[in-house]
Amino acid sequence: MSDYSLELNEDQIQITKWVHEFAENVVRPAGPEWDEREETPWPIIEEAAKIGLYSYDFIAQAFSDPTGLLMCLVSEEMSWGDAGIALAIFGSTLAVAGIFANGTPEQTAEWIPQCFGTPDDIKLAAFGVSEPDAGSDVSSLKSRAVYDEAKDEWVLNGTKTWITNGGIANTHVLVLSVDPTLGSRGQASFVVPEGTPGISQGQKFKKMGIRASHTAEVILDDCRVPGRCLLGGKEKLDERLARAKEGKRTSTQAAMATFESSRPIVGAFKLADMKMHTDAARLLVQRAANMAATGKRFENGEGSMSKLYAGENAVWVTEQAIQILGGYGYVRENPVEQWHRDSKIYTIFEGTSEVQRLVISRAISGIHIN
Ligand SMILES: Cc1cc2nc3c(=O)[nH]c(=O)nc-3n(C[C@H](O)[C@H](O)[C@H](O)COP(=O)(O)OP(=O)(O)OC[C@H]3O[C@@H](n4cnc5c(N)ncnc54)[C@H](O)[C@@H]3O)c2cc1C
Repeated sequence: MSDYSLELNEDQIQITKWVHEFAENVVRPAGPEWDEREETPWPIIEEAAKIGLYSYDFIAQAFSDPTGLLMCLVSEEMSWGDAGIALAIFGSTLAVAGIFANGTPEQTAEWIPQCFGTPDDIKLAAFGVSEPDAGSDVSSLKSRAVYDEAKDEWVLNGTKTWITNGGIANTHVLVLSVDPTLGSRGQASFVVPEGTPGISQGQKFKKMGIRASHTAEVILDDCRVPGRCLLGGKEKLDERLARAKEGKRTSTQAAMATFESSRPIVGAFKLADMKMHTDAARLLVQRAANMAATGKRFENGEGSMSKLYAGENAVWVTEQAIQILGGYGYVRENPVEQWHRDSKIYTIFEGTSEVQRLVISRAISGIHIN
């Protein structure tokens, strides 16, 4: 156990510098192209694999840093380069974390290296929990895993959505329900190894941002995996299910029921704020327009106030609209992401927000404006 300190040690400094150089020289210059192409940036992943940045050894080193800081430093540098490319390179670590958290030591040793492959034979991995009707509320997963005792195989069925590297990954780690009556306590994680029949990619999402990272549905259609693909093993699962059936059912179900009933109210509060700020913006605009029309001077920068407030509110309101819709707001089949991108210009043209603030502060402090 190491003492916690924000002072970086020599290893951390050197690795951060190394990753920063890669981000600066390779990732950042490539960012705009891959955002536009909206494809997995294979040449960049290859470069990362060649220098050992995309590798089992490096990720094992980063995750085993006793201070816990190294992976944060690496992620920050890579995201500074380009957030989409960073996720394309490190998206596999989600599956690694899933295997590490639930797998036996033998499963960890077998499956984690397969998430990365080698520089000559690069592999990707994906981790899938979310479903069309179960995003934040993971207790209501509909995808099912049914045990076929005669063959010692699990039969997986259902649809996963929003999955980073979904369908293009070689290894998928998926959370499915083995006993829907137990909610999240009736779920288990499975590895779907490369080449398994019955797993395929559904629609690939067109996104507002992080476009170099592949996001898609994963369809399971009678996908059969060997018994050893259940992370943690059958014995441990059976014990866990038996414990859950013994009685702890009501408290979690009650909590979920509370979430369900509070959700529309949270949305309504958010909508109330959006409406209130939009009305305030509208009133400021109308006041300024009325003053201009009636020949009144903008003694306190009233024109700038209206432009500043309405422009920034448009950005904020459209961001809230995306937030309310969750993943559905982040993809281009919904108009809100375009509204958000479009709204940004109102904080820039016809005098930026900063300039409007200057005008207002000068007006109210009595400084003369030319
Ligand atoms: C680019 C991208 C990559 C992703 N990658 C992965 C991946 O690799 N693997 C994976 O499993 N998933 C992935 N996801 C899914 C992501 O985790 C979900 O989108 C997220 O959990 C939200 O779920 P949802 O989209 O269903 O929205 P919802 O859960 O329906 O949420 C909609 C809105 O309601 C709010 N809300 C929901 N419940 C409550 C509550 N109880 N109280 C207050 N507010 C609430 C939310 O905060 C949000 O504002 C990805 C999503 C995107 C967009």
